[in-house]
Amino acid sequence: MAFMISTTSCTACGTCLPECAVEAISEGTEYYTIDADACIDCGACEAACPEGAISES
Ligand code: SF4
Ligand code: SF4
Repeated sequence: MAFMISTTSCTACGTCLPECAVEAISEGTEYYTIDADACIDCGACEAACPEGAISES
């Protein structure tokens, strides 16, 4: 299990980036991505995303 960012819902706002303690989130120009191997499933980014773009897969 890991958290994923929806490529269609993400607006690349950047709010989630500082929430991740293990730096599993990467910036992108159109959407951000989560490295599933690095993610420790804490859920902090999901709670912070104003678009509801992050969910557990
Ligand atoms: S669930 Fe936690 S560890 Fe995984 S990407 Fe989000 S903030 Fe980082
Ligand atoms: S907080 Fe949500 S909308 Fe903003 S960059 Fe992260 S996933 Fe995308």
